[in-house]
Amino acid sequence: MIDDFKNGVRLDGNEDAYQAALRDHQDGLVISLLKQAEAKFTLHTADCKAICFDLKENRCKRRSGKLLFRNREELFELAAAHGVNVSDLNDCKQCIKSGA
Ligand SMILES: [Zn+2]
Repeated sequence: MIDDFKNGVRLDGNEDAYQAALRDHQDGLVISLLKQAEAKFTLHTADCKAICFDLKENRCKRRSGKLLFRNREELFELAAAHGVNVSDLNDCKQCIKSGA
């Protein structure tokens, strides 16, 4: 796993580190630890606007927890250790192509 933003991302804290991690791993995958439809977490690609939008411009101070992975193999290998069932994720409709 690239880095642990499990406890959330704060504008006045680890936001810069989070953005840097996304930039360094543009092919990575990100699990957003906010339960959405059907109480599932959402899977994104690292370049998805939904997870990397500018906090300041959007008048936000924080993001929900995130888990960043280098690739799908790493996601499958490590997600469970963080309490995430990979077969139980929603694919983000903006960034995950079906079958990807
Ligand atoms: Zn997305």
